[in-house]
Amino acid sequence: MIQIDKKRLKEIFRLIFNAYANKTGIFATLRAENLGPQNVFRPQGVTIGDKDHLYWLTLVALSDKRTNSPILYRNFARMFHRNKSLFKRGVYPSLARMTNLFRAYKIALPVMEIAFFLQRKRHLDELFGGDPLKIYEGVSDIDELMKKLMAIAKKRGIRNLFPGAKRKIFSLLAMFLSEFTELEFADIVPIDVWVQSICTSSGVLIGSGQIDINVLEKMLRPLMTELFQEFRSIKGAPNATWIQGKMLCTNCARLDMSIACPIYHLCKGPFSRMRHPVSDKHYGRIQMPPQFIPKALCSS
Ligand code: SF4
Repeated sequence: MIQIDKKRLKEIFRLIFNAYANKTGIFATLRAENLGPQNVFRPQGVTIGDKDHLYWLTLVALSDKRTNSPILYRNFARMFHRNKSLFKRGVYPSLARMTNLFRAYKIALPVMEIAFFLQRKRHLDELFGGDPLKIYEGVSDIDELMKKLMAIAKKRGIRNLFPGAKRKIFSLLAMFLSEFTELEFADIVPIDVWVQSICTSSGVLIGSGQIDINVLEKMLRPLMTELFQEFRSIKGAPNATWIQGKMLCTNCARLDMSIACPIYHLCKGPFSRMRHPVSDKHYGRIQMPPQFIPKALCSS
C-alpha cells in the first residue's frame, strides 16, 4: 500500500515554494512571468488580463491535457489571432470546420476533444456569460466547485458542462485566473504529473504496490492546498512545481542539477516513463511504485 509521508511533503514543497519566493536556484531566472504559457503566449492584440485574454485562456486551459504544454498555447494563440470570430460568444463553427482549424494550426487533439472544445465554449457562453470568473463564483475550493457544476448540469439536463476537464484542470484554470484577477480560490496548485513525480522521487510516497493516479491526486490535493496557503501572497508561486518538473526533472538524468534544484539533497533522482515489470504496460511517473524506480536513473 502506498501512503503519503506528510512531514516529508511539507519539507519538500516548502523548499520548492521558498526557493521560488526567494528567487534562488532555477527560480532566479525561470519564473511564471517568462515561462508560464499564460504569460508567454496570447493572440496578438489581446491585452493580458482583459476579457478576451481570459476567455481564450479558459478555452485553452480546458483543452490542456499535458499540463501547460507550451506548444498547445502557442498554436491556440495563432488560431484565435487569425480567426477572431472564435472570441465571439454565441459563435460555434461546425465540427468539420473546427477540425480543419485544429489541424491547420497543428493542435494535435483527437476529434472527440474538438467536439468537447465546442461544447465547453457553448456552455461557457450560455451558462456563465463567457466569463470564466463566474464558474468560480460562490465557491471557495475544488469540492464546492465540482458540486456547483454538477448541480447546474443536473438542472439543465446536461451530462457534463465541461467535458474532458477534471479537478486538475479547474485548479490550473484557477491558478491562471488568480494571476490576472482578484479570484480567491483555495486549490490553485494543479496536482499534475510533476507534483506526483517529485513526491515519488523525494520519498513523499512511501510503502509499496501500485496506486491509481486519480486516487493519488485525491490524497495529495488537500495536503498541497493546505501547505500552499503559506505562499499565497507570492505571485506566480503555484507555477513553481511545474517549472521545477519541466525544466529540471526532465533533464536531471543527464545534467547536474545540484545547484539549480532546491531539493537535490533530498531526492533520489529522476526516472523516465517505463514498462511495468509484470504487466508490461507503460507506467507514467506518477503511477510507478518507488521500488520500480530504475536504479540506473537514480543518483547515488
Ligand atoms: S534532484 Fe532531479 S529529479 Fe529530483 S527534484 Fe531535483 S531535478 Fe527533479
